[in-house]
Amino acid sequence: MDYKNLLVLIINDMVIFPNNEVRLEYDNTYDRQIIDIVDKINDGYMLIVNPIDENSDIDITSLPNYGILGRIKLKINVPNGKTRVVIEGIARVELSNYVSDDKLYRANCKEVEIEDISDEENYINVLIKALNRYIDKVPHMGNAIMSQLSLIDNLNDLCDLIASFLTIDYKRKKKYITIVNPIERCKALIEDMNEDLKFVELEQKIESEVEKELSEAQKEYFLREKIKAMQKELGEVNSKDDEVIKLKKKCSKLKCSSKVKERIIHEIARYEAINSNSPELGIIRDYLDWLINLPWNNYTKDNDDLVKVKSILDSSHYALEDVKERIIEYLAVKQNTNSLRSPILCLVGPPGVGKTSLAISIAKSLNRKVAKISVGGINDEAEIIGHRRTYVGANPGRIIQGIRKAGTTNPVFIIDEIDKMTKDIKGDPASSLLEVLDPEQNSKFSDHYIEEEFDLSKVLFIATANYIEQIPYELKDRLEIINLSSYTEYEKLDIAKCHLIPKELEEHGLTPLQVHIEDSAIMTIIRNYTKEAGVRELERVIATLFRKIVKNILLEKDCSFYNIDEGKLEEFLGKKKYLYLENNNQDEIGVVNGMAYTIFGGDILSIEATLYKGKGELILTGSLGDVMQESCRIALSYIKANVEEFNIDPKLLEENDIHIHIPEGAVNKDGPSAGVTITTALISLLTNKKVNKNISMTGEITLQGRVLAIGGLKEKVIGAHRANVKKIFIPKENEKDLDEILDDVKKEIKFIFVNNYKEIYKELFK
Ligand code: ADP
Repeated sequence: MDYKNLLVLIINDMVIFPNNEVRLEYDNTYDRQIIDIVDKINDGYMLIVNPIDENSDIDITSLPNYGILGRIKLKINVPNGKTRVVIEGIARVELSNYVSDDKLYRANCKEVEIEDISDEENYINVLIKALNRYIDKVPHMGNAIMSQLSLIDNLNDLCDLIASFLTIDYKRKKKYITIVNPIERCKALIEDMNEDLKFVELEQKIESEVEKELSEAQKEYFLREKIKAMQKELGEVNSKDDEVIKLKKKCSKLKCSSKVKERIIHEIARYEAINSNSPELGIIRDYLDWLINLPWNNYTKDNDDLVKVKSILDSSHYALEDVKERIIEYLAVKQNTNSLRSPILCLVGPPGVGKTSLAISIAKSLNRKVAKISVGGINDEAEIIGHRRTYVGANPGRIIQGIRKAGTTNPVFIIDEIDKMTKDIKGDPASSLLEVLDPEQNSKFSDHYIEEEFDLSKVLFIATANYIEQIPYELKDRLEIINLSSYTEYEKLDIAKCHLIPKELEEHGLTPLQVHIEDSAIMTIIRNYTKEAGVRELERVIATLFRKIVKNILLEKDCSFYNIDEGKLEEFLGKKKYLYLENNNQDEIGVVNGMAYTIFGGDILSIEATLYKGKGELILTGSLGDVMQESCRIALSYIKANVEEFNIDPKLLEENDIHIHIPEGAVNKDGPSAGVTITTALISLLTNKKVNKNISMTGEITLQGRVLAIGGLKEKVIGAHRANVKKIFIPKENEKDLDEILDDVKKEIKFIFVNNYKEIYKELFK
């Protein structure tokens, strides 16, 4: 097997033996170049050599006379830019005529011939015995080689096999390539193995002596020191140690169940043992951080003084008696029964009516910490109950995050926007929330990330929502719903005077001796600078006003007292932003006032109807929702069925098209409560009779003319009152809701309760 001018692959850290395969990976372009050429030109054949002196620069003199003829068995370019090859050693060869051309070396080669060996059998036996002893004594030495021994019948191959198998260093290993004579190689191998054995025996002897003297603790210390020494040797910086000490200290002080403590101790041990470069290190560290910093058993003591609780709630929030009452009841029952089971309150109402701020005041009055999360827009249940730790970037859910922030086991936990969760393929967050809120289950709440059970039963949950209908059904069932409705202008005036103005004065460093806002000015702010159900915008406008006053006081220094009346508002706040529908137009045929409930509170809503020559079609415009369109059709059918009673000429309906329009089209309008108003507008149109602008009405209508109950009466009445309405028709079923309406308003408006539309007809058209 002679070859001429073969390329030489120089390897300086490992040895390839005949009948042996190695896998190599290259990103180095020089070696890769050789591999590529060999693979393409020489049918994969090449010469593999280990330089004589591994530390000196490579030139022809540093290359040995003996090497291995090898062949590329497999070559793959892997995606990370490297090339992976499997090289097979074929035979030991003698090299000659090295030439170098542009850093690539070439040489001729001739296979080394092995002469017959007398007593070959004996040598083989002695070598195998030595090998057996070696495998027996040296720790971690596998015996996979044994099965291959039976396939070999000559000393030369046996020596190469054993040499490739031994875990000795590179320098010692590479000499076996150049010891050509098998007997010499056999002797060198036995010597090397015996040498190693002596070392192992010595080490074992020392360790067994040391072991006898060491107690368990000392042994652990010894082993840790050994790990540290090794890590130092490997260049791993060990900042973990200090951290472990700190973690252990924190763990010993932690008030938690023994199960949790065991878990923490276990995790600290894992953390300690894991290699500093392991990607798992950070994961364990984060997990420990959560376990150690959760308030497992850290309670605040409730303020049980009911009178004090009431006075704190009253001082922070005007009205809202239902909620305040409920909190006092909760405390009373708790004291009386010693039961700690908390109610799950849900405050429902339009934005800015004080849901969140009241919940915060409740916490303050009870002397509890606050946790607050918003679940609006959540569509993934892991947001509530956490991700499993195997998930990349895993975190606990928002409940546990809130508890950690609050720092106690019994905070007031505010869950905002419970009506805005969505359900999709990622799961149903509402049912996870149910698990959190359900007192039967939540004493053993288990977050997927934390894994250990956490007791949520002492938490006072307060949820908030804007629309009761949108709260997921299964949750609504467990909640104690408390409605907070919009404020009337008078209520807003009181809130401004008693709460918002004093609060904002203080925040702006002002005193009542410097600024006074007249009631009429506050009312104008409420009417023309804000449009809302609550008082959030009002609070902002008052803050803007004070900001400008502070600036004036500091810049101009010429005025020490500001009395803000209606006239001054424009100077500070600019032009009025909202002008309510002026309700002083002429009465018209086919135009009637309805009443609407929007997120800004209530307003009146003018419904118009007209007719022109056509074929009896119905045309609807003005951003009407599906339900409202149905109301229009029901109204028309009801009228068609009762033309005689309403004195309408049926031909009018057959020969004309009817158009119903609801102006102020920017707002989507829906809901059935405009039914009676649409009916009235149509009758007015078809009978040519005007309806007074001081009248408005609300109620759902059925095909039989029955008038059904509606929602949001309070807001609607507030809106109508503002628009100067003097008479309102409302469904009889809503009579009870009139309790919510202030006496001042009731004095100025006449309410007529109806069961059937005919009663309205009688009042207006007869
Ligand atoms: P919501 O959570 O209902 O949207 P917030 O609790 O955020 O409303 O309230 C907005 C602002 O209005 C807060 O500054 C709050 O103090 C104030 N506020 C609301 N209702 C009242 C009230 N009844 N008495 C005093 N201040 C109130």
